[in-house]
Amino acid sequence: MKFANYNGRAVVTDGVRAVYVADASDGKFGDAPDHIFDQWDEFTAWARTITVRDGFALDPDLLAAPSPRPRQVFAVGLNYAEHAREGGVEPPAEPAVFTKFPTSISGPRAVLELPTDTVDFEAELVVVIGRHGFRVPERQAWDHIAGLTVGQDISERTRQLTGPMPQFSLGKSFPGFSPTGPWLVTADELDNPNDLGIGCSINGQVMQDGRTDDLIFSLAQIVQKLSAILPLLPGDVIFTGTPSGVGVARKPPVFLRDGDVLETWVEGVGTITSTCRTGVQYAPAHS
Ligand code: ZN
Repeated sequence: MKFANYNGRAVVTDGVRAVYVADASDGKFGDAPDHIFDQWDEFTAWARTITVRDGFALDPDLLAAPSPRPRQVFAVGLNYAEHAREGGVEPPAEPAVFTKFPTSISGPRAVLELPTDTVDFEAELVVVIGRHGFRVPERQAWDHIAGLTVGQDISERTRQLTGPMPQFSLGKSFPGFSPTGPWLVTADELDNPNDLGIGCSINGQVMQDGRTDDLIFSLAQIVQKLSAILPLLPGDVIFTGTPSGVGVARKPPVFLRDGDVLETWVEGVGTITSTCRTGVQYAPAHS
């Protein structure tokens, strides 16, 4: 099942056609995408009974972030061995976790404002939580995952790496620095949700090209390890790490420039496109 945020309204889609959840369920479920996660188990049971073949044709430009107002947004650094190596560090023994603040969330076709000339890209598989979970055992972790979406952990490297302590959370939380979408795909749609191709390109040139079976900490282990410390809430978003090929590790470094089109994909999940601009006035993305 694919769940999407269509111009602020919850829809079920096959990627081409869609139906509004509130209409198709006769109001059993509401319009607000973020509220659907509070009823995710009930919602998915219902959503599997409906057909979208006779729905309306999707306009991709109207898709927004699948979880537009998460209460918590986590990200895992150095979670691919090859990416840890290009950063010059050993693969970590425990996940290196930081937060991306929720105001940085944007959608799958958003304009990405570049606040400086050292903004970098990180293609990531993103987990959205669908069931409250505290101290979740690894074997039950997938029961807490609503589905998977595509994301970019956009990173302003100067802010991130300046000061006595690295400022990961601030450097990765400028407005629009967490594009996600184009929809949420449930795990049962994927042959193997633990082994998916992932990558990104700038203006058509491939910059990252990896597979999620290279993750050091699997999606289930991330859920287990985060929830060992704090409760995970419906709608929470977890960026799970990026494969090798990021701009800052290249010689010379490659950073995003005005007019660049950054395309990011995860096999079986979808593709998102960020158009880079400098000097644009920040306006909150519709969600
Ligand atoms: Zn990242």
